[in-house]
Amino acid sequence: MASSNDNKSTEGGFQDGNSDPNDEETNELCPGFKDVDAFVKYGLGAVLSATKASAGLPQAGDDYDFYRSFPGFQEFCESQGDKLLHLMSQIMQHHGCRSHMRDRNKLTGLEERFDLVVDSNDTILERAGILLDEADGVNRSQQPVMPAGFQPPKIVVSSWNRKGSGSGSRPETFRLLHAKNVARPQLKFKEKVDNSNTPFIPKIFIKPNATKPLPSYFTNKQIRKERPEDLDVPAALADFIHQQRTQEHVEDMFAHPYQYELDHFTTPENLLSKPEVQMYKPMAETKCSFIDTLEDLVALNEKLCKLSEFAVDLEHHSYRSFLGLTCLMQISTREEDFIIDTLELRSEMYILNEAFTDPATVKVFHGADSDIEWLQKDFGLYVVNLFDTHQASRALNLARHSLDHLLKHFCNVDSDKRYQLADWRIRPLPDEMVQYARTDTHYLLYIYDSMRAQLLEFHHGQPGLLQSVWNKSKDISLKKYLKPIFTEESYLELQRKQKKSFNTQQLTAFRLLFAWRDKLARQEDESTGYVLPTHMMSKISEELPKEPQGIIACCNPVPPLVRQQVNELHLLVQQAREMPLLKVSKDGCQQWAYVLSVLFGPHDTSRISAAFLKELETKSDQTSLSVAHMKASRIIESFENPFRMYLPPSDVHINKNAKFDPSSKIFEISKRWKLQSIEQQHKELEAKRKAKEEAKEQAKKESLQNVATVRQQAADSLKGGGKKRERVASEVGESTPKPSKKLMKSADKPQKTEPPSQESFTPFDYSQSDLSVFAGTKSKSNTQFDPNRQAPDFKKKVFICSLISGNRSMSYMAGKSERGFRHNWPKR
Ligand code: AMP
Ligand code: MN
Ligand code: ZN
Repeated sequence: MASSNDNKSTEGGFQDGNSDPNDEETNELCPGFKDVDAFVKYGLGAVLSATKASAGLPQAGDDYDFYRSFPGFQEFCESQGDKLLHLMSQIMQHHGCRSHMRDRNKLTGLEERFDLVVDSNDTILERAGILLDEADGVNRSQQPVMPAGFQPPKIVVSSWNRKGSGSGSRPETFRLLHAKNVARPQLKFKEKVDNSNTPFIPKIFIKPNATKPLPSYFTNKQIRKERPEDLDVPAALADFIHQQRTQEHVEDMFAHPYQYELDHFTTPENLLSKPEVQMYKPMAETKCSFIDTLEDLVALNEKLCKLSEFAVDLEHHSYRSFLGLTCLMQISTREEDFIIDTLELRSEMYILNEAFTDPATVKVFHGADSDIEWLQKDFGLYVVNLFDTHQASRALNLARHSLDHLLKHFCNVDSDKRYQLADWRIRPLPDEMVQYARTDTHYLLYIYDSMRAQLLEFHHGQPGLLQSVWNKSKDISLKKYLKPIFTEESYLELQRKQKKSFNTQQLTAFRLLFAWRDKLARQEDESTGYVLPTHMMSKISEELPKEPQGIIACCNPVPPLVRQQVNELHLLVQQAREMPLLKVSKDGCQQWAYVLSVLFGPHDTSRISAAFLKELETKSDQTSLSVAHMKASRIIESFENPFRMYLPPSDVHINKNAKFDPSSKIFEISKRWKLQSIEQQHKELEAKRKAKEEAKEQAKKESLQNVATVRQQAADSLKGGGKKRERVASEVGESTPKPSKKLMKSADKPQKTEPPSQESFTPFDYSQSDLSVFAGTKSKSNTQFDPNRQAPDFKKKVFICSLISGNRSMSYMAGKSERGFRHNWPKR
């Protein structure tokens, strides 16, 4: 340990103050260290010698007392001690921990300092853990939270976007260019972004190159938009409502508009035979046009329609928007490059469908999976005749399938990947970013030629392998964009990925925070990662802070919306703390109790039937949580009662003793539930009678009569088996008048049942509401709304859940939320 003046001792080490990990501005990790390895090596060496030196110090006791009698030793100890405290304090500050280590005199003793060190170590290790997880891909969709307020754009190194090392190569670091004061492009959009919790409906309203005409549902859309009654809701929602009113076109609404054309598309012969490989033009000699006017876009479309192929790529931003924004489209022909400002031309981009769906023009993409979805989501664009070089790379079994690898392999171009995760909303676009964007498509047609030639060579001139790439590419163009749908179960999916086992209180907190975050993100049009990153949400749930300040302490840096709504969050945490505490153990019965309490909430027994309880009894010796859990979920799914909010309240909850010995209580609990289900039926009959009476009084609205029917069905299914119930569940879209706020207040604390009143039907306040209301009265018609139709693999049945989000409620359609986990980013 070299001795020097106190205050200079940290030179080259940590800097005071802000702990934002994104503040790196230089290439060097730390001054004097070229990379992490060098830094770690040095650090380990230093720690080792410090440990050695410390072990060599006189031991506490006689030895030490003897040495201390020398003033020189005493002085040296004190100065070194101060220096150490100062260093530790700086490290703590750097990590945002409590750090009043420095003032020797103020501290009462060793114990408090020791506690401080332990706390700080915890914090630092936690952060290291999070960062490692992120590097590992666990939190890949997360972006770092930027503190609010103005800061000039700068290049930062972020740990989460580190590319995994390919075969033998060193991991590369991507840089995230993050501009912090970008105006929100959404504000200028002609059509409001539709973040409602409803399935995505294609934006298309004109269908060029159609062999099957566009269903009238879409062609009439523009006309409908002008209907005054629909003007105060987002256009997509207005369409949805319109459909619900007219009970038409449901099949069409969720189908791929070019399904028919793609199904009947066969790759032309000339594209399956040996191509003439055409060299790319040097970038410097290629004209590049920036397109940000409708006029130029129309001209570009004309140009593209005449070509036999062009290359396309998109740049997307997903941090400051709920659904993400396509910010840029790059197009390269054999002669020219084009950069389209898709933020500016968002509402006009659809005109490119003429070229994009022209079967005579090949569209070359690299890793088009996301692009195909983004094109649909933001512009209503589709692709017919796609060639995906990523698929070709796989078929050729190349060492790596990333675009930078293809660029190196085929063009010997070293691409600069620095801007891949840049904030593409920035305008005007810096030159470097334009150059970067160009590179993504400029060489792609040459690569396309070369790959086709190789694919044929590979199979000795036989087109089989090449055909398989065309087929795979077609499959990608058939992909449909799926909107993230919030369901009652979405949080469980995410929680399972957290590698933490939660007790009932923690899981409840996680559920409530998840719902809060989803709601706010949709409302504010921000990503859920911006509102509250998952690792912070997990930490709050884990710690269940008693004070609002504790919530803030779980977040570093504190997301602006968390700071703003900390009291709201605190209430949610408090609510979670009121749950009976039940821990998960290896014991099967406990698991069942746990799963039940977690999924139903301890106060909610309305969805549990006798059959389920029988199942519970026979299965209570299950020992594997995953099997038990899956079984429970399956059963619960089949018993899901969408009208739970209309059922009578119940006060039965899991016996608090269960936390001491749940296994001995499981039968007691199940018996209570059994009793409850009978009692509940009585209550329900009573409620039903009342509902009928009121329905008579307010016979105006037809939909209300259905409530009684529906309630009858719900009651029947409570008595009967799961099959019946399943049918009820699938009919939820029929009619459910918007419940009053009071009714929907909470799934955890059911309110006294009030029959839905006529006033609760408010036709134009759709943004937060249960859209199944608009299914009208043709309840038996199979054209009713069914989110399953959003996609073939969207199998969950419909149900409605209500949950607390502050003091407002939301209803949701069921469906699998895949937000944040869906994208397997194509490797570059
Ligand atoms: P690219 O096709 O490589 O130009 O990527 C298109 C867009 O995908 C970028 O603008 C990013 O928004 C997003 N993207 C690409 N790679 C990643 C990644 N590893 N993580 C998150 N987003 C990515
Ligand atoms: Mn791309
Ligand atoms: Zn790109």
